[in-house]
Amino acid sequence: MTDTDTFDALVLTEADGAVSQAFETLTNDQLPEGDVTVRVQYSTMNYKDGMVVNGIGRLVRTYPHVPGVDFSGVVEASDSPDFAVGDEVVLTGWRVGEAHWGGYAGRARVKSDWLVKKPAGLSLKQTMALGTAGFTAMLAVNRLEEMGLSPNIDGEVLVTGAAGGVGSVAVAILAKLGYTVAASTGRAETHDYLKGLGASVIVDREELSTPPKGPLGKERWIGAVDNVGADTLGTVLATMQYNATVAAVGLAGGPGLKTTVLPFLLRGVNLCGIDSVMCPKPKRIAAWTRIADVLPLDILDSLTTTKALSDVPSLASDILKGQVKGRTVIEIP
Ligand code: NDP
Repeated sequence: MTDTDTFDALVLTEADGAVSQAFETLTNDQLPEGDVTVRVQYSTMNYKDGMVVNGIGRLVRTYPHVPGVDFSGVVEASDSPDFAVGDEVVLTGWRVGEAHWGGYAGRARVKSDWLVKKPAGLSLKQTMALGTAGFTAMLAVNRLEEMGLSPNIDGEVLVTGAAGGVGSVAVAILAKLGYTVAASTGRAETHDYLKGLGASVIVDREELSTPPKGPLGKERWIGAVDNVGADTLGTVLATMQYNATVAAVGLAGGPGLKTTVLPFLLRGVNLCGIDSVMCPKPKRIAAWTRIADVLPLDILDSLTTTKALSDVPSLASDILKGQVKGRTVIEIP
């Protein structure tokens, strides 16, 4: 590998506040600082990628920028004692794809601390079929269990935004662990898909967008993974069973939250935030190991679509409209 070796990349530039996208050929000497260089094979499309590629939310401060918040590939050069040339590695989080060039490029140069070795039992492609969304879904389920959720408790675990990336993997993991899963979606055409992932009950998105008449509603859920936020999270909090926990993952419905303190005071409800970005390494490795153990590969394949790097701009718009189902792997040339 030399400084003048080339690779393809999606590059974002900014002019007068507007972000534009172009496919370019870059050379290794243009890569950012880092002690490990990876030949990227796969990346994915996450909600945050949709925001970055479309210049929404000011997540990127420095242009030109290569987006892609996660990737898997093979180490091509390393100054780190922890990684050797040829190691298969996975990266999610650490603001890669936002504050540092990311995975929508044939090569990435990053800090070795940000990488984990590919978990046993998964191919490089399967690690990205999971990607940031799948990893986050596992963190959310782990957190619910740390807070006392167990398959021995009778009742339903709710997943909102269920047909999306985090939601799909959360439904599949929970069902595989023996939970009764209620999947909330706004898309009628995904009902069979969600049942195929193991959902027992489908809840219409509208049902959760409308808050109960009083500050508390009927006690329904023994746990919840919420990808939507806003009014939905308010309704979910008001309808949790006594002492149950909500893992708040996302804001696909908006960043606001309308609630009262009554779910917390009168029902002992717990609200736990899930952050996959700065998650410490031991927790990271534990989550990857567990997900590789738990999730059957045929289920993982059934929720995965594969696309080319050239499809990223249109996918980035689709995901912001809530039109992407399951997980989308991007093959990097
Ligand atoms: P997706 O777009 O794949 O899924 C989001 C789902 O939310 C959609 O599929 C849709 O589900 C539902 N949805 C979309 N818009 C609305 C709306 N206006 N009102 C109600 N529901 C809506 O995104 P991801 O699964 O990748 O991410 C989900 C959320 O989690 C995002 O906000 C993302 O930023 C966040 N996230 C957070 C992480 C963390 O570390 N905390 C890590 C990864 C993601 P359906 O069609 O079934 O209704």
